[in-house]
Amino acid sequence: MSGQSAVALQRQFEVRPLTTKIFSWGRYPKSAHQFVHKPAWNDQIQDILRAAAPGSLLPHGLGRSYGDSCLNAGRQLIDCRRLNRILGFDQASGMIRCESGVSLSDIIDVVLPKGWFLPVTPGTRFVTVGGAIANDIHGKNHHRAGTFGAHVRQIGLHRSNDGLVTCSARENPDMLAATIAGLGLTGVIAWADVQLKRVAGPWIDADLVPFDSLASFLDLSRESDGQFEYTVAWLDCFAGTNPRGIFFRGNHAADQGKDFHPQRGPKLPFALPGWVLNRHSMRAFNAAYYKIHTWRQGPAVVPFDSFFYPLDSIKQWNLAYGRQGFLQYQCVIPETEVAAFEEILDRIAKSKMGSCLGVLKQFGSAPPAGMLSFPRPGLTIALDFAMRGERTLKLLQSLDEVVRQSGGALYPAKDARMSPDMFQASFPKWCDFFRYIDPKMSSSLWRRVMGPQ
Ligand SMILES: Cc1cc2nc3c(=O)[nH]c(=O)nc-3n(C[C@H](O)[C@H](O)[C@H](O)COP(=O)(O)OP(=O)(O)OC[C@H]3O[C@@H](n4cnc5c(N)ncnc54)[C@H](O)[C@@H]3O)c2cc1C
Repeated sequence: MSGQSAVALQRQFEVRPLTTKIFSWGRYPKSAHQFVHKPAWNDQIQDILRAAAPGSLLPHGLGRSYGDSCLNAGRQLIDCRRLNRILGFDQASGMIRCESGVSLSDIIDVVLPKGWFLPVTPGTRFVTVGGAIANDIHGKNHHRAGTFGAHVRQIGLHRSNDGLVTCSARENPDMLAATIAGLGLTGVIAWADVQLKRVAGPWIDADLVPFDSLASFLDLSRESDGQFEYTVAWLDCFAGTNPRGIFFRGNHAADQGKDFHPQRGPKLPFALPGWVLNRHSMRAFNAAYYKIHTWRQGPAVVPFDSFFYPLDSIKQWNLAYGRQGFLQYQCVIPETEVAAFEEILDRIAKSKMGSCLGVLKQFGSAPPAGMLSFPRPGLTIALDFAMRGERTLKLLQSLDEVVRQSGGALYPAKDARMSPDMFQASFPKWCDFFRYIDPKMSSSLWRRVMGPQ
């Protein structure tokens, strides 16, 4: 098989020679790939693995990672989106088995009417189960539920040298821990068993509280974490070291006995000119957002989709940053290092390169589910920055210094540029991780942080 031509492979697996570039969500960096395999069935994966050269492949989900962790520039991707079958669902226990290309959105559509919900969900429902495991994603309930990986009971993993391997707490537990947050490098996840969470319906008892300093955010967080399953804050990072923002908290509500209509919204049809989101328009947006939500403060029963996924209401909103794309910066800083957090906000304010989207959350103390899991106790902040070349990269590098000195970490799912030193300081278990990497796998991010391979 190894001598097979690209044309033969194309016929067999629908290998698509890439004429268009595959983007991650931030549209930076822009990478061309040699091939994209599009298997429709799990039993095609072994043939793809067998035919591939060492270090040539990377699984790809819905491309909702912002930077280059889902890219494999100059090499090949395995697009897993057609592996999208739900294989089983036990309505009594809430255990679901699905192929790795099933999206969280599809799971919600099937299980929510039956009184179940995702144990952990990110800020968009358009990510695959494989992507959720490979980045060990976190959500607004990290302080209660930990990460997505903590709810994965078993997976089937395609390995190029061992075939389809089952991994669970009893069978190959080390390989399971390496694959959760394993950045797609340990093999292709075929299927996963995920334990869902019982809920009464699609409604959330939500509460909005404005705050005007970091101290009041921390007080709100402490006070809310015991009473509310979900907590997160939006931050106006144009406000400097004493930031103002809106604290969102909520619990699943009792059944409301009324019809639920999923949110529908417009779609950005093309990339806006880069100048549309400038510091004046973003400052004005932030001021308006703060004001509107201050008016709306207090409790309300709201649909789950507007609570968890406000950004999904505008499809392709990432095009708002223009053709240069944007970078998201997400770090976590230990709780004891509030001064470092203030330093980060100060450097951003001085740079005059603030962002519309500032998300702030206090992580809980759940033990990491994966060897390279990002969440750990502390404050995490996520900020978007329009890509303005060297200026943007220099600012983010200067934030890295602060994060590193504080003993914090950066999130690879959002990253397109961290240095090898920064990665290794963020994930001290990277040396142990090496032995679990599938020899056929590599990624743009991995080569960037580990050197050419
Ligand atoms: C609007 C928005 C909000 C977000 N909010 C959050 C948040 O609150 N919390 C959070 O943690 N993240 C968040 N994210 C990031 C997102 O959840 C992760 O990047 C997620 O991993 C993307 O999944 P995907 O299916 O798009 O995978 P991709 O981005 O395509 O790939 C992600 C990784 O998964 C690997 N992978 C994909 N499929 C497989 C497979 N079958 N087998 C093995 N590896 C595989 C890839 O190789 C890659 O390393 C957000 C992203 C967006 C766009």
